[in-house]
Amino acid sequence: MPGGVKTEVRTYQMYINGEWVDSQSSKTFPVYDPATEEVIAQVPEANAEDVNRAVAAAKAAFEDGPWATTTAQERGRVLFRLADKIRQNAAKLAELEARNCGKPIVEAEYDIADVATCFEYYGGLATKILGYVNPVPDNAMNLTLKEPIGVAGQIIPWNYPLLMGAWKLAPALAAGCTCILKPAEQTPITALEMANWLADVGLPPGVVNVITGFGETCGAPLVQHPDVNKIAFTGSAAVGKIIVKMAADTVKRVTLELGGKSPNIFFADADFEAAIDGALFGVFINQGEVCSAGSRILVQKTIYKKFVDAMTEKAKKIKLGAPLDRDTKMGPLVSKEQFERVRSYQEIGKKEAKVAIGGGRAEKFAKGYYVEPTIFYDVSNSARIAREEIFGPVAAVIPFEDEKDAVKIANDSPYGLAAAVWTRDIFKAFRAVKALRAGIVWVNHMQPTYVEAPWGGYKQSGFGRELGPWGIEEYLETKQVHINLNEAPIGWY
Ligand code: ADP
Ligand code: MG
Repeated sequence: MPGGVKTEVRTYQMYINGEWVDSQSSKTFPVYDPATEEVIAQVPEANAEDVNRAVAAAKAAFEDGPWATTTAQERGRVLFRLADKIRQNAAKLAELEARNCGKPIVEAEYDIADVATCFEYYGGLATKILGYVNPVPDNAMNLTLKEPIGVAGQIIPWNYPLLMGAWKLAPALAAGCTCILKPAEQTPITALEMANWLADVGLPPGVVNVITGFGETCGAPLVQHPDVNKIAFTGSAAVGKIIVKMAADTVKRVTLELGGKSPNIFFADADFEAAIDGALFGVFINQGEVCSAGSRILVQKTIYKKFVDAMTEKAKKIKLGAPLDRDTKMGPLVSKEQFERVRSYQEIGKKEAKVAIGGGRAEKFAKGYYVEPTIFYDVSNSARIAREEIFGPVAAVIPFEDEKDAVKIANDSPYGLAAAVWTRDIFKAFRAVKALRAGIVWVNHMQPTYVEAPWGGYKQSGFGRELGPWGIEEYLETKQVHINLNEAPIGWY
């Protein structure tokens, strides 16, 4: 922007029943650019009335609309067309995402490519939903049919906004469900932009509704609504627990992808350069705002000092900058609230452990929610910074003695989303793979995520799995059909 020109503030409507609408209260709320702290958009503030409207549309579309009678082939083609639209508009979407989240543009470009890939994957999977013939011991035919669960409420976080939307929408639509997507209040823009193409690609009104609002006034009524058959949630553990309780009253199907405190384990025999790189990448990618962040870095004692020193040296070179600058490796945190949360953990960490680097706001920026990449070492696994999810660029380095010790520390956590282990010894690697209580275990890498492979956690990291065939399963009911082939009476009475 040239000097003196204020950022253009766009006012959005939301998308219900195939129409662009304001909230019934006409209220809106601001959306920010976390690098400039300026308002970049206004979006409708949906409340329970708007939720009712969106759910009614989704229910009608499921029960009476043309969606109910589409074939799997047609649903697949819709998803392929949506993927094409995403690819055609990838540059614009990536830029919006980077501006709204604060993530580096290069990372946002990967995210948007993954969005398209996700729609393509489930477009293909739509025609591969298979049933069974069950070998029951009678003159009968017993079948298993897979059917869509119905109306799905989908509540997503702000760290990978459109990608989390795709992880939810793509399998739901492939299964034949209808959806109400509620993006995080911090980052609703790309989902609203995508809604522009939904009718064009062939989604009838009401099949996908995008509503914008806050957790308690928009998310909660969606979870409580009796006509919503399933809630898919990605977000904090605290809200996940509230959702399970709220969903109990209507016995909703729920899938939860919550937080983590994932261990990234380095044995002395690991490739040292790759290990240092993997430790930093594991915890600092996307400003550390990653549910699977390798935020507990477990290092074998024999290489511990050298490891902390090398990590620190390399961390000094991480380039913080404006999200749209192609050299930027770390942008600001998403919001003031998140900035304050991470800052408070930096202060807690200073009392609990030693600081190798960082520990404060990145002061070279006059504006924006920038924090320094922070490494604490000599951290006890019982410290708060080792137990609580921080969701920012804060690493806790913990020394360990041997394999048994490493696994014990790694598993001593309320969470179990992911874990990684670095070693050149395949025996040790495979023993760790088996022993680690986590939904995803990486060996000699951390964070690669594939639409073909399952994603989800053990323990308090949630339940249910997204992606791959597991992801579509979560949007399907299983129906048993029994067909008696005896024409005679049952003959009991
Ligand atoms: P954070 O605290 O990091 O923003 P949250 O778990 O609060 O993470 O937010 C993730 C998503 O959950 C957002 O879309 C948010 O609006 C929604 N949310 C927050 N609180 C509730 C709630 N009580 N009921 C339903 N959804 C909620
Ligand atoms: Mg919250």
